[in-house]
Amino acid sequence: MNDLDSEKISANLRKKGMEPVDDPDLADVVILNTCSVREKAVQKVYARLGEIKKSKNKRPELIVAVVGCMAQLEPDKIFKKAPFVNIIAGPQKGHRMDELITQTRLSNSPVVELRSDDDPNALEYGDFQRTCMWRASVTISEGCNRQCTFCVVPLTRGKERNRDSASIIREIESLVSRGCVEIMLLGQTVNSYRDPYSDQVDFAALLKRIAEIKDLKRIRFMAPHPAYFSNELLDIMVSCPSICNHIHLPVQSGSDKILRAMRRGYTRAQYMELIGKIRRAERRIAISTDIIVGFPGESEKDFEDTLSLIDEVKYDNAFSFKYSPRPNTVASALNDEIPDEEKGRRLEILQQRQKVIQYHKNAAYLGQKVEVLVEGKARSRVQLSGRTTDNKIVNFDGPLSLVGNFAWVQITGFSSNSLRGTLIAHDQNQKAE
Ligand code: SAH
Repeated sequence: MNDLDSEKISANLRKKGMEPVDDPDLADVVILNTCSVREKAVQKVYARLGEIKKSKNKRPELIVAVVGCMAQLEPDKIFKKAPFVNIIAGPQKGHRMDELITQTRLSNSPVVELRSDDDPNALEYGDFQRTCMWRASVTISEGCNRQCTFCVVPLTRGKERNRDSASIIREIESLVSRGCVEIMLLGQTVNSYRDPYSDQVDFAALLKRIAEIKDLKRIRFMAPHPAYFSNELLDIMVSCPSICNHIHLPVQSGSDKILRAMRRGYTRAQYMELIGKIRRAERRIAISTDIIVGFPGESEKDFEDTLSLIDEVKYDNAFSFKYSPRPNTVASALNDEIPDEEKGRRLEILQQRQKVIQYHKNAAYLGQKVEVLVEGKARSRVQLSGRTTDNKIVNFDGPLSLVGNFAWVQITGFSSNSLRGTLIAHDQNQKAE
């Protein structure tokens, strides 16, 4: 979601004749698009502002902007710690970045623009110049009506607003007509979607309609909430091959006591029932998750419940985090905080356990032929990296001109994080990024 927000800001500024540069010392404007979901992300921004201050001292005309969730959450603190900042803007202000820059330049004083209205029309960002032609993220909703006690997102992105489905479809059709083959639908709880103009169109119906778009090869969505995962949604995933066979289903904890304290809206048994349904579906679907360790009051037994849950589910991938108290959330006022060292210990155990699970899961791909959408240069020795429909990263040797195309790869090796293979065949119509 933040990547997409950055892309919108970048498009707005390029339209006004600005160009991105790699080195902040060459920039007229430096923009930090921030996240506030955990304290660590916030600390990184303050550290970065410390570095930018040196450039600002050398060139006082440099414009510094802090935008996104952290800007929305603590504008006063940012000005206090970094009084040289020129622009503070909350989420969804990217399309107005050029105006904010002009405003601060003309007035020679700081500009603050926070998200205040929860108007669904504000989500209609219009057509903008994408940086990538073959893959795109599309916002279907913003904000969140849930009240997970650990989470700051409802305080930064506001109440849930859904976009008009007709407008979503138009946007995707237009992207596909220009060569886009993969779409990622985005929303805080993406599957609670309901068209504001037609009660009939829920997330499952929207997905079905999108799957009918000709030449759209892959559809992904992020992130569904277990409480809204309907049978219809699963049926549609099973019957539409262009919907990727991967579900990211954040569980957060395996302990009913902690799930209740988090106000997640499901019990372990309910979550496992959903996992059972997905596993029994006629199509094999990969499942990944998010987990928080060290929520206030989490006992050793609660933590062990989480370990037994990951053993039971055998996730394809898991993102796990130490609980981080966030300002003005219900959980931040709870006692029983777990010491950081203990959170670290639990995280380490959990991640080791999950690593072994993933290693065994990935081993099953050895010798298989898989289709990947080629994404770009791999980090390691091999040249290219692609992704299977079930969200496995595959590294292999091949020409960079394959980026944005589909290729078939024979799997010859694996680690707990990725697969390795040899290119066997690829699309004819190569369209590089
Ligand atoms: N609405 C999204 C949440 C996005 S935040 C969802 O339900 O998937 C991504 C992940 O960050 C969450 O799933 C959670 O595991 C983690 N997270 C959120 N708040 C946190 C906090 N206060 N401390 C630690 N991790 C947190």
